[in-house]
Parts: sequence; C-alpha cells; structure tokens
Amino acid sequence: MRKIEHLGIAVSNLGESKKLFAKLLGHESYKTEEVESEGVKTEFFRIGESKIELLEATNPESTIAKYIEKKGQGIHHIAFAVDDIKAEVERLKAEGFTVLNETPKKGADNKWVVFLHPKTSNGVLVELCQDRD
Ligand code: ZN
Repeated sequence: MRKIEHLGIAVSNLGESKKLFAKLLGHESYKTEEVESEGVKTEFFRIGESKIELLEATNPESTIAKYIEKKGQGIHHIAFAVDDIKAEVERLKAEGFTVLNETPKKGADNKWVVFLHPKTSNGVLVELCQDRD
C-alpha cells in the first residue's frame, strides 16, 4: 500500500458539512460526485497527498444511512492507495482478512475499489483504491 488515499466521513447534510470542512481546512472542495450504485453523494477535499471524502446517503437503504443511524456522523472508512488491487486482494485474503467484494467496483473519484470487513481489521472499514484509467 502506498499512502492513505482518503478518509471517508459519513455526514447527514452534505451542504452544511461542505461549508464546515472548507472552514476547517481553509480551502474549498474540488469535486462533488454521486455514486448511484452505492446510494451516496460525495464531496472531495485535498489535504496534502491525501483527501477527505464526505459521504451523504441518497436513500434510506444506503450503507451511509444505516451507519449514521447506528453510530452517528463520523469517520466511516480509511482508504489506501494501491498499484495492483487484485494482487492486494489476494495478499490480504492470504493474511486472513475478509474481503467484502473480491471483484473491484467503480468508486468515486475515478477509482476501482475493494472493501475489507471491519471485523478482521479491528473495527476499521478499509477501502483499497486503484486509479481507473
Ligand atoms: Zn472512500
């Protein structure tokens, strides 16, 4: 894994959180994107080599809606940048991690993404992402 690509933060009102994080970081977001298949709308901020991804549910069945219902707003996942997502999946499976989707799916910000179940990573939902091009 190369670096922390982004931190995903579950929010209940993207418009308000966008303003809040712009104040916090001292600059505006660079992208808004809806990922229909995941039922989320996202807002991306750059911070050095990493990013902050704000996630708002677009429907009550969205994993973000369920997360907020259970735990409230807050850090939802850590995403690591990888060069070869399929090789990483094989490596992590061999190490005993539970992979939620073995076939990489299209994520926001032009990435292929795979998630690891939090139960095998100390309660942390881990996202692997590889540039899609
Ligand atoms: Zn993410």
